[in-house]
Amino acid sequence: MDNCLFCRIMKGEIPSAKVYENDYVYAFRDINPQAPVHVLVIPKKHFSSLNDTAAADDRDLAECLRAIPVIAAQEKLETGYRVVSNCGPDACQSVQHLHFHILGGAQMSEKMS
Ligand code: 5GP
Ligand code: ZN
Repeated sequence: MDNCLFCRIMKGEIPSAKVYENDYVYAFRDINPQAPVHVLVIPKKHFSSLNDTAAADDRDLAECLRAIPVIAAQEKLETGYRVVSNCGPDACQSVQHLHFHILGGAQMSEKMS
């Protein structure tokens, strides 16, 4: 997807603070952090959201989930973290490339919405 912001970040066309990468996944710091640690994990293949993954290879999705605890350990989030994937307008999804927010580094609210 030539015009997708996160595809361009993943390809290095737009700079980002990379925290993790493998053949399937790229992860980088959110430009507008909402917690002391705020990392975005994206599949290297373009899916617009979870709603766009019915035909995805399992590996592309599984690698995102498997990367999360690796990144959490790297970021020293031993006491916990939250994972969020906003999907669609009601959830305020603003970038149409599937991504998982890892939020941590402070006690969070029990409220999630
Ligand atoms: P969404 O609202 O779609 O769930 O999350 C998109 C996230 O991408 C937001 O938290 C926003 O701060 C982040 N973001 C938007 N543009 C950029 C950018 O150019 N670089 C980085 N690192 N993060 C971005
Ligand atoms: Zn994309």
